[in-house]
Amino acid sequence: MAKTSKFIAVLQSKCPRCRRGKIFSGSLYGLNLQRTNETCSHCHMKFEIEPGFFYGAMYVSYAFVVAEMLNVGLLTYLITGNDKSPWLYIVSILLSVFALTPINYRYSKVLLLHFLAPKVKYKPEYDTNDKLEHI
Ligand SMILES: [Zn+2]
Repeated sequence: MAKTSKFIAVLQSKCPRCRRGKIFSGSLYGLNLQRTNETCSHCHMKFEIEPGFFYGAMYVSYAFVVAEMLNVGLLTYLITGNDKSPWLYIVSILLSVFALTPINYRYSKVLLLHFLAPKVKYKPEYDTNDKLEHI
């Protein structure tokens, strides 16, 4: 049985320990809000490792938003060229940040769990189709 790569696990927002269970319920851009599952449906890992763990995702999300604002501002400048109206930049930056909010919410938590939580380790023995009843 092939093991799940870290890249695929991050992209599909899967559990960092087994890379099988979903971290979120609900789709990325769905009508029902996405929620963070309390535990992994496959290996039963508790996603909020310690109380307030996901507050750290705010800093990751902040970095995402700054990078998005800079890129959209630069893109707006490159596309419109001579337009000096600040409203064009304000509106395009705010619209893009608003549109990307679900992505920021999801991937700030995923990156925090996969890369910034040293206690969480990938366990290849959990990366299996078998039901993990014994854990
Ligand atoms: Zn898991």
